Amino acid sequence: MPQIADKTENLAILAKKIKAWGAQLGFQQVAIVEPDLSAASEKLHQWLASEYHGSMGWMSEHGDKRYVVDKLVDHTVRVICVRMDYLSDNKMIAVLKNDNKAYISRYALGRDYHKLIRRRLASLVSFIRAELPSMALSQRAFVDSAPVMEKPLAEQAGLGWMGKNTLILNDKAGSWFFLGEIYTSLPLPVDHSEQPNRCGKCRACIKVCPTDAFPEPYVLDARRCISYLTIEHKDAIPIEIRPLMGNRVFGCDDCQISCPWNRYPQRTGESDFTPRHGLDEPELVTLYNWSEVEFLRYTEGSPIRRIGYQRWQRNLAVGLGNASANSDILAALERSAAQSSDLVREHVQWAIEQQRHKITHKARPK
Ligand code: SF4
Repeated sequence: MPQIADKTENLAILAKKIKAWGAQLGFQQVAIVEPDLSAASEKLHQWLASEYHGSMGWMSEHGDKRYVVDKLVDHTVRVICVRMDYLSDNKMIAVLKNDNKAYISRYALGRDYHKLIRRRLASLVSFIRAELPSMALSQRAFVDSAPVMEKPLAEQAGLGWMGKNTLILNDKAGSWFFLGEIYTSLPLPVDHSEQPNRCGKCRACIKVCPTDAFPEPYVLDARRCISYLTIEHKDAIPIEIRPLMGNRVFGCDDCQISCPWNRYPQRTGESDFTPRHGLDEPELVTLYNWSEVEFLRYTEGSPIRRIGYQRWQRNLAVGLGNASANSDILAALERSAAQSSDLVREHVQWAIEQQRHKITHKARPK
């Protein structure tokens, strides 16, 4: 294969090849952007000043590396942005309506996407390198793993627009996809295909949010967001928010499910994203009864594992407390009331009180 020098026309050929390789590697879209994160950095600072990031202190760390791309990776002049669909089922609403079931965010049902996408991006990086063996290239791939402003970059690259729910929406694919990036020193031709914002007057995501986590459109207060509370937050879940969480025990997709742009979602063809161990519609009690050994076994290679057994049990206890009156649930909670962790014990106690109250109330003649 003839080698490509860094001439303009050759870079255009290389950009086309990168997109073709990306498609072969399973990405639904690949686009190249000359990053300008000045507006995004202003929004970030406002968001941090409002303390909407909760305990995610890492959001304010790393100085300006987050929005000055060549401070994170030397000599970066372009970012290659990719997206990959992950939705594998359509049981979301049925599970949310059944309060004996546990709802797990759809992105977490299969194998951890970080590994899969990182591997594919590494292949893409090596294909580019192979085209330019004698050129000193600076390239680095990211998947939700470093101070990278992936959503503003994706928006600039034309992968979609930032919806009022703060997710990237694509007019053909909705929002059920992962993002990834390659920072590169190659001055590739950029894509000028930004999608206009098509949210219009819709506010479905804001209205449906179970915990009212959007203080205004395009702004998320993570401290009220179920995804943050069940995954990122290490301490007790605020008592006033627990009843609002329903059966959502790992993440929440309500603002995606309600979005009209997700009415006809694209299904993934990746077998790694196929639900494992029935996690697409599990019983709350079944998950709660897992021992730590079982938790580690069933979540091996899954993004769920990173929250650890105690937070897993904390979240499930909230789900069990929110379930309808159920003596089996109460028995399971009471059997485990002497938990070793203060965090879990307090949530289990809360759930026991909720169940006892509901059972008593249900039994009382009208
Ligand atoms: S639900 Fe409506 S407002 Fe929210 S992101 Fe989708 S289109 Fe935009």
